[in-house]
Amino acid sequence: ATPTALLVGTGRGAQLGILIKGPEVLESTRRVDTIVLDKTGTVTTGRMSLSEVHVADGVDEAEMLRYAGAVEHPSEHPIAKAIADGARERLGELPTATDFRNTAGLGVSGLVNGTAVLAGRAAFLADWNVSVDDRLALAKTAAEDQGATAVFVAWDGVARGVLAVSDTIKPTSAQAVSELRALGLRPILLTGDNEGAARAVAEAAGIPEVIAEVLPEDKVAAVGRLQQEGRTVAMVGDGVNDAAALAQADLGLSMGTGTDAAIEAGDLTLVRGDLRAAVDAIRLSRRTLGTIR
Ligand code: ADP
Ligand code: MG
Repeated sequence: ATPTALLVGTGRGAQLGILIKGPEVLESTRRVDTIVLDKTGTVTTGRMSLSEVHVADGVDEAEMLRYAGAVEHPSEHPIAKAIADGARERLGELPTATDFRNTAGLGVSGLVNGTAVLAGRAAFLADWNVSVDDRLALAKTAAEDQGATAVFVAWDGVARGVLAVSDTIKPTSAQAVSELRALGLRPILLTGDNEGAARAVAEAAGIPEVIAEVLPEDKVAAVGRLQQEGRTVAMVGDGVNDAAALAQADLGLSMGTGTDAAIEAGDLTLVRGDLRAAVDAIRLSRRTLGTIR
């Protein structure tokens, strides 16, 4: 490709809301055959809300929610914000948690009114040997089958409640996925979230393949495995936990609405956070490089 053609392509990208780190990026864009899509904040809006509250036998709902809101309050995670906001809307001021600790991709812990509280997914509770009664186990499965993320709340070694947190798919995601497939790309949904929620989102967006329950540090390995299979992989993501995978991918596309870490790691930024700009980027690179071959 001539430098002039690449520069023109880069300029055209900016008009389309695609910021390209360097002219050579267009070359990698053209070769891509697989596109890995992060779920939360990329395919979905990432704006989550607390949709259901379930308690174990004998547990006071307000107390459980107060502990959950307090322990999630210091976290930046969209799930945590939904829980803290939902608790505050229902209960008013929340107690302050101390000794807060975030375990990426699993959950949070902290001391609330002298009690050690955990909030997170099933695997997080299992690490702490927390027991879960049948009622809560059923509530979790039901929430996940509807596409929600179930968060367990536990203290003193026993799960006390399940909170369902729901997110909605972006209105443009399904169209973008269908156009990516029409361009011959294989879309794959990659998420740390549970299999049920991942499948529900994948189905709504028309994504045929799902890799779910992947810990943040394992997203890189998932991209690497596809590359070992001989695929040329683009990754689209928005979170801190996507940064390494964005760097590992042959082409990293970050959501302009996402975190700085993701934007720095990407080769290309979709300014408006609209997946359709990924389609524009691929068309643009094919056109730019196609004319000069
Ligand atoms: P994604 O890959 O969809 O962006 P993450 O890797 O950030 O998701 O998180 C994976 C899973 O870990 C979440 O779906 C949730 O079950 C759990 N989790 C992460 N952070 C929290 C938190 N602060 N509170 C409760 N659960 C959490
Ligand atoms: Mg995300």
